[in-house]
Amino acid sequence: MKFEYQRPATLEAALKFLAAAGGDCAPLAGGTDLLVMIQEGLVGPRTVLDISRLEELKNIREEDGRIEIGALVSHGRAAAAKLLREKAALLVESCLQIGSPQIRASGTIGGNLVMASPSGDTIPALYALGAGVVLKSVTGTRTVAIEDFFTGVKKSVRRPDELLTAIVFPAPEPSARGFYNKLGQRKALAIAKVSVAALVTRKGEKVEKVRIALGAVAPTVIRAPRTEEYLAGRKLDPETIAAARSLCAGESRAITDLRSTAGYRDRMAGLLLARGLEDLL
Ligand SMILES: Cc1cc2nc3c(=O)[nH]c(=O)nc-3n(C[C@H](O)[C@H](O)[C@H](O)COP(=O)(O)OP(=O)(O)OC[C@H]3O[C@@H](n4cnc5c(N)ncnc54)[C@H](O)[C@@H]3O)c2cc1C
Repeated sequence: MKFEYQRPATLEAALKFLAAAGGDCAPLAGGTDLLVMIQEGLVGPRTVLDISRLEELKNIREEDGRIEIGALVSHGRAAAAKLLREKAALLVESCLQIGSPQIRASGTIGGNLVMASPSGDTIPALYALGAGVVLKSVTGTRTVAIEDFFTGVKKSVRRPDELLTAIVFPAPEPSARGFYNKLGQRKALAIAKVSVAALVTRKGEKVEKVRIALGAVAPTVIRAPRTEEYLAGRKLDPETIAAARSLCAGESRAITDLRSTAGYRDRMAGLLLARGLEDLL
């Protein structure tokens, strides 16, 4: 497959190029998905726009209680970042469960989001963190709540002239604890059959707030609002966790495909939530 290759030196030049390309141009970040798709003939862009050296998209920082992660931060770098290990450990856990060390060294968080796979590992953790997705074009910048970013399997609201430049979320309260639990065919190099992320804030013994996200059980990652509502205000004890487990299984909307059956996925969604909550105890 032949394509034109461009490597702009600045973000501004990249955005101008993308605007002029009229949609027939694929940004290249880590290349772990794009190069496979090109090789398999699944996509055939006229131009590949290599953005991998744009340093301005590689920052991880906290400012005014808000954490920002540049789109080009690789899973490996995110997992090693002190700020994220201290304040967003569930995202670190999700990055560590991606592919293999080689894939984590190249693959980026921005690329994971743009692929918009319901089994993308960073996505449930970013739902639980209440993240926003920053999209930039020559005409301006917009931040879209992560739950509004995805519109279906491999579909998002990103326009072809936009680059995803960063992911932002409020720094979790110091007492907040989270987890990301994934079930795959193997322990490494396996796409999630089902995954669960949650961020729980407790006041004393009781759950004050909780955000739960389920991966690979619907066309997009989904929240589990009935389970969240049930847990709020309750003490995390074995009875509460058992009830949350069955509510969560009921909120899963899995389908049967070559990786798993719907019923198994639904039950596992409940189990992965329960295990995470038990670990928090
Ligand atoms: C062997 C293997 C194992 C894998 N295992 C896992 C796994 O366990 N879990 C998992 O979630 N994923 C897995 N993946 C998928 C992949 O590694 C991730 O989705 C990765 O995060 C993609 O990021 P990337 O930087 O490589 O994206 P790229 O391949 O560079 O790009 C992916 C897509 O996003 C677009 N794009 C990338 N960055 C931007 C941007 N900033 N703005 C606009 N568009 C952009 C590209 O044009 C392309 O369409 C695996 C892939 C392979 C090959």
